Amino acid sequence: MPVVGFHQARRPRQTHRARIKRELSWPRPGGIALSLAGAAIIFSGAQALAPGVDPGLPSPAAAPAHSLTTPDTSAGPARSFASTQSSASPAETQSGATPSRPAQQPSKGPSTLSGAGSSPSPITGTAAAPLVAGAAADSPLQKLFESGNATPKDRALWDINDPGSPLALVNKRRPLHPEAYVPANLVVPAVEAGSAEPPLLRADAAAAAERMFAAAAADGVRITIKSSYRSFDTQVSVYNGYVANKGTAATDTTSARPGFSEHQTGLAMDIGDANAGTACDFSSCFASTAAARWVAAHGADYGFVVRYAPGEESVTGYLAEPWHLRYLGITVARDMDVRGIHSYEEYAGLPGAPDYK
Ligand SMILES: [Zn+2]
Repeated sequence: MPVVGFHQARRPRQTHRARIKRELSWPRPGGIALSLAGAAIIFSGAQALAPGVDPGLPSPAAAPAHSLTTPDTSAGPARSFASTQSSASPAETQSGATPSRPAQQPSKGPSTLSGAGSSPSPITGTAAAPLVAGAAADSPLQKLFESGNATPKDRALWDINDPGSPLALVNKRRPLHPEAYVPANLVVPAVEAGSAEPPLLRADAAAAAERMFAAAAADGVRITIKSSYRSFDTQVSVYNGYVANKGTAATDTTSARPGFSEHQTGLAMDIGDANAGTACDFSSCFASTAAARWVAAHGADYGFVVRYAPGEESVTGYLAEPWHLRYLGITVARDMDVRGIHSYEEYAGLPGAPDYK
């Protein structure tokens, strides 16, 4: 299967990456301590684990559509989506981070990008109070923010434990807290839907997706969104559907439990390739599609990374998913790319999450 060839081929600076890996050489004591502290906070409020949905698999047909979507997926300005839950707004700015190619102006969702308007400097992190809460003190993520060039600009969002932050780190050992978290600013991006599930993303991720899809279209690549925001309740229903079909053990090998899925943050999406058909949707062969190649090469310029990269299975806890993109913001995504780091766990200097504890 031509799964890993492209990704491996484009990995830059292998020597540099290897050096970084040696430097990180985790688990490191600092990372563990911070991780445990973060985990303690997270798990202190966690309830008994309920079943949930895999980060990348499509919803079974029997699964009910989540209640927050609307059937209108026609192209048009991103529409605001009412939410009863307030949350910190994303504050990513694009200054100093112009995509490498022309892109359409994004359709604006509700005005949530104003941020705090404050500069992230002066900046000095300490081991006791790292700049980015939850990330290891000497991690690349921490260093990027210490440089003063990172986004988001809103200091309140410099927290990988905050599901409302573009920096949120969610994996099998880091559930969302609260577990039923709902993003405050979900919008329908003006992009092509690749399934019956209407696209729904946080406003910052939606605007970035619009720019990215438009740039890809200019290159003749028709990216679609197969699945994006999924609520906790939807994941419960879908997971139960999988369990009914193939049992818990098999389901757990491919599905995330509810409250453990990046899709619940509104920052993740599974893409398709309209020109390639559906044969490779959610399959390893998707890596060979034009859409997968395009996002692997250019996604960082729009703030997206391929979250579950080949070769990172023991770190991310998931097999490679060349269709699952995570919005981290342009500066973080580009820094990961430049450094040749292909898991967010490593970038944040935290231990991997190969399974549930
Ligand atoms: Zn996914």
